[in-house]
Amino acid sequence: MSLVERDLKVIWHPYTQMQTALPPVAIVRGEGACLYDESGKKYIDAVSSWWVNIHGHAHPYIAKKVSEQIGKLEHVIFAGFTHEGAVELAERLLKILPDNQQKAFYSDDGSTAVEVAIKMCLQYWHNKGERRTKMLAFNNAYHGDTFGAMAVSGRSAFTAAFDSLLFEVEFIDLPNESNIQDLKSQISNLKSDLACFIFEPLVQGSGGMLMYEAKYLNELMMHCRENNVFTIADEVFTGFGRTGKRFACDHVNEQPDIMCFSKGLTGGTMALGLTTCTQYIYDAFLSSDRMKTLFHGHSFTANPVAISAALASLDLFLDESTEKNIRRIESAHRQFELKIKNHPKIKTTRQTGTILAMEWETGGSTSYFSSLRDTLYKYFLEAGIILRPLGNIIYILPPYCITNEELAYIYSKIEQALEDI
Ligand SMILES: *Cc1c(COP(=O)(O)O)cnc(C)c1O
Repeated sequence: MSLVERDLKVIWHPYTQMQTALPPVAIVRGEGACLYDESGKKYIDAVSSWWVNIHGHAHPYIAKKVSEQIGKLEHVIFAGFTHEGAVELAERLLKILPDNQQKAFYSDDGSTAVEVAIKMCLQYWHNKGERRTKMLAFNNAYHGDTFGAMAVSGRSAFTAAFDSLLFEVEFIDLPNESNIQDLKSQISNLKSDLACFIFEPLVQGSGGMLMYEAKYLNELMMHCRENNVFTIADEVFTGFGRTGKRFACDHVNEQPDIMCFSKGLTGGTMALGLTTCTQYIYDAFLSSDRMKTLFHGHSFTANPVAISAALASLDLFLDESTEKNIRRIESAHRQFELKIKNHPKIKTTRQTGTILAMEWETGGSTSYFSSLRDTLYKYFLEAGIILRPLGNIIYILPPYCITNEELAYIYSKIEQALEDI
């Protein structure tokens, strides 16, 4: 039996309608921006394997650091114990985050980093004896698949089976010049009920790479601060260079109270989540009363092996060659965007940092389930490019090490698809 046949017997894949999906592609190795299947066919990973990979696949430096760590200490309980990597990573990250970020809480992935952030806010008010239980989020937001993270995500096909069980969240539109005053008054009206405002800074990934301007985010964050509403910047996707700066919050002057990280945190090598917060929030959990403790933790909290990958990835991330690569991808994206944005089959294009998104004309239906999506997905897969359209939206967000030739190949296939499909 082939690997794919064995897979189909025992595996249930994520976000996959198992009855109609194409059989999975069996990947045997990765190198740079590319993955190779069983037959040796090469695929350019233009979506960074669900947005996690930043330095390329099987990076030798990360592999070396991980293998050194795994032979030394693979794991230790993180309540009552600590280890060098956990402390070093927190020290180094807090140094490059907005300077109000003072404490680091580890977890397993992006969803759990968001759960921790939500609990920090809700319990902050609980510990202070104030009843503030409502949360504010953006329409079309995506913050993860666990229940708390799903509750603060926009209601959609992804959440439909669970909508009646999700806690109540106030949703507002993305800010722009014409609605910003209205959004601020909505916040003012709700303020004494609001525990926090959670948002994906600058780019809503799963929502369709929807982008909004830093200056309006800054205004909303300032307004929240003035009204004692905590702000949670979910940088799970936008962190580590995706938006052109180290963190999307580096585009605004206001500082969030809490930040969430995962995806690029380990360079895409292993699962790891991180939530950072201000001293002010942390202090609200200090007490001789045990009931004020943050009762949250995962078996693999601060796993030393995942952290060694994060430390190695951070070394690479802070190297000036990474910064240069990010600038290079940005400018290539911008040129390609200019070239195709007036094509009759392209409805709109948008770009922030290393992310380029193109909305295709569908003549009506634009849902996540549009058949155009499947056609495009298959077309690019056959051409040896992994692109996973969100409905009729194609987006490219490659590992930063992608070569100019690989980028040019992706662009040329997109132009070709505009003629062929
Ligand atoms: C992917 C994502 C998450 C969830 O992260 P997982 O590691 O998949 O649980 C949360 N927030 C944002 C903005 C994301 O893009």
